[in-house]
Amino acid sequence: MIFDVLTLFPGMFLSPLSESILKRAIERGIIQVRIVNIRDYAINKHGTVDDRPYGGGEGMVMKVEPIVRAIRSLKSEDGNIRVILLTPQGRLFKQSIVEELSQYSHLALICGRYEGVDERVKTCYVDDEISIGDYILTGGELAAIVIIDAVTRVLPGVLGGALSAECESFKDGLLEYPQYTRPIEFEGNRVPEVLLSGNHKKIREWRRREQLKRTLLKRPDLLKIAPLSKEDLKILDEIRENLRECD
Ligand code: SAM
Repeated sequence: MIFDVLTLFPGMFLSPLSESILKRAIERGIIQVRIVNIRDYAINKHGTVDDRPYGGGEGMVMKVEPIVRAIRSLKSEDGNIRVILLTPQGRLFKQSIVEELSQYSHLALICGRYEGVDERVKTCYVDDEISIGDYILTGGELAAIVIIDAVTRVLPGVLGGALSAECESFKDGLLEYPQYTRPIEFEGNRVPEVLLSGNHKKIREWRRREQLKRTLLKRPDLLKIAPLSKEDLKILDEIRENLRECD
């Protein structure tokens, strides 16, 4: 999978791409990340990429021509590229969008800066707009890294254990169950006995119950859309009943 990142700050990508899972995915040829410096596509010799907003107001706006020239250059290489603008006004990034993006073979991520990009970039050259949360970053670079990281880890062959991306939070619409590793006891706090029992059926049932309980307590909004079985609904009723008794 190819990620083309259009940015004014290429240096911001050096460290995240040279560590751990992303580094290995690049080395194994599963992903390729190409950093495109928008300034290289400026239309004057000073490399101007921003200008004052029409109508007045604070700050600068990223000019349309350099970004569009960069996109055209990428599209001339691959007409199927999917162009995404990082913007706080976009679709909220979540695991279902990670899965969706992982189906493309080529993404271009446009990182805005300053007050954002000239609206005309969006009108004709952008297929999708994505926000990583309801807050304002100084630029789209960190958002691009978040997207590259999340999409890469669901690509086949990236994670060590084939199942490790299967059971985690959001995959089945719920939060993940609690995880423990050695020691068995820490400051008087023991690992739940069932996890030491070797009884896989019981472990599965315990984990499902914990998933439902956590999601109910921490993210009840997820329960409204998660695909739940009759058994799940019964367990949820029991959990609610227990919680009421503890109140
Ligand atoms: N004035 C813009 C607005 O109110 O929508 C915000 C501009 S922000 C300071 C500069 C750039 O950072 C944006 O163009 C975008 O690329 C990126 N950015 C900021 N917050 C973001 C978020 N939550 N998700 C994705 N990109 C973001």
